[in-house]
Amino acid sequence: MSKGIISKDEDYSQWFNDLVIKADLAEYSPVRGCMIIKPYGYSIWEKIQAVLDKMFKETGHSNAYFPLFIPKSFFSKEASHVDGFAKECAVVTHYRLKNDGNGNIIVDEDAKLEEELIVRPTSETIIWHTYKGWIQSYRDLPLLINQWANVVRWEMRTRLFLRTTEFLWQEGHTAHATQQEAIAEAELMLDVYADFVENWMAVPVVKGRKTPNERFAGALDTYCIEALMQDGKALQAGTSHFLGQNFAKAFDVKFSDKENKLDYVWATSWGVSTRLMGALIMSHSDDAGLVLPPMLAPIQVVVVPIYKHDEELENISAYVKGLTTELRKKNITIKFDNRDTQRPGFKFAEYELKGVPLRVAIGSRDMQNATVELARRDTRTKETVAQEGLAEHIEKLLEEIQQNIFKKASTFTTENTVEVDTYDEFKRLLDEKPGFLSAHWDGTPETEQQIKDETKATIRCIPLNNKLEAGKCILTGKPSTQRVLFARAY
Ligand code: AMP
Repeated sequence: MSKGIISKDEDYSQWFNDLVIKADLAEYSPVRGCMIIKPYGYSIWEKIQAVLDKMFKETGHSNAYFPLFIPKSFFSKEASHVDGFAKECAVVTHYRLKNDGNGNIIVDEDAKLEEELIVRPTSETIIWHTYKGWIQSYRDLPLLINQWANVVRWEMRTRLFLRTTEFLWQEGHTAHATQQEAIAEAELMLDVYADFVENWMAVPVVKGRKTPNERFAGALDTYCIEALMQDGKALQAGTSHFLGQNFAKAFDVKFSDKENKLDYVWATSWGVSTRLMGALIMSHSDDAGLVLPPMLAPIQVVVVPIYKHDEELENISAYVKGLTTELRKKNITIKFDNRDTQRPGFKFAEYELKGVPLRVAIGSRDMQNATVELARRDTRTKETVAQEGLAEHIEKLLEEIQQNIFKKASTFTTENTVEVDTYDEFKRLLDEKPGFLSAHWDGTPETEQQIKDETKATIRCIPLNNKLEAGKCILTGKPSTQRVLFARAY
């Protein structure tokens, strides 16, 4: 127990909640399942957004914005889509309140909407309704659009960042002339997500396909990236869907090809959400607080002066000014915490809790010796280094930290991905050493469901890099051609 955070070995899920609150990332709101993202948490989300947005634009996409409300009738146009989302929709029925005469505010029954509106849980329907007006010929394709927005899914069991009723996300919605092109787009965006999550968030992922049971409602194929958290539970970090012609048929979106033949348009959609914040927090952090990858840390370097007299502070400040200029040239974010209202020890603990990758402490002795004390958040090691060449040293260390936390998470994922050949072993491992269990499955939804009911483990994905291998289903003993990845998941 430290800083009011329970140890992650004692209660991982409580540790996560404590951390989110104590590190000032988010807090609960008066609305069930909805959270308030605080400035420090939001600044990490802004970094995530900025990097992803650039990646989307570099792959040819443009941003647009569609309404928050979707007419109810739109939902019924795609049967499996409505089936999937009906259970978790917020519905707007009225547009006015009134005073009942006794000082109570009540819904004005005279202000009932003719057609109810659904608060978007995802925007395929309203977007494909719109695309009908935008797409006539092959010249209008491909149409590559992304939207940054909030969505609402009435989740029954919510968790800060991981599963909230309202969440922030981006949703890409693309239209193509051919099936191959749409599949290539879905795969490309999965690669973009994997690249971002591994190289920026430093979280290793497995790329795969969902089984039909776990597919997005309305998709022909769902690709996903799955990551393993430190407690051995999996987290779906992003999804990319090949939607076939389902939405084009539901909304009658046809295009004329070069030979003037009419055909329905092919579609994809893909999204990542504020759940990524949950993955980031859970993958690297420890009992002392957050550990942030330098590439997404809002503050990369913090400088804490240690002084008794104002004159000493002036000296240190003059030095830090020069260092700041040098680091800014290298696009490194530095904060000089010269508050005189808190003691250095308090500041050290605060920046540890907030996961700042590097801390520089400078006292009078350091100024005399032309040195500083550098502390790494990832390894919690300290070293005294020369002021000369410090900016270059910091730059190198930040890269090293980024690599080190990725390596640590990768080793963890590898060590906790185990091939299992019997159901007894499967059940034993889920309880004793949870992680990704790679096992044979007979390919039927019934077996998948029975395993889920009996063990709470689901098929996270059929890995894209799977080798074909003859084996027997762990539950039924029926023949199987490849292993799939099972885990208990968030
Ligand atoms: P989907 O549209 O269901 O494929 O989900 C798109 C993305 O949003 C995926 O990366 C999910 O992991 C994420 N997501 C789904 N539901 C929630 C939720 N309730 N809170 C936060 N993220 C979510």
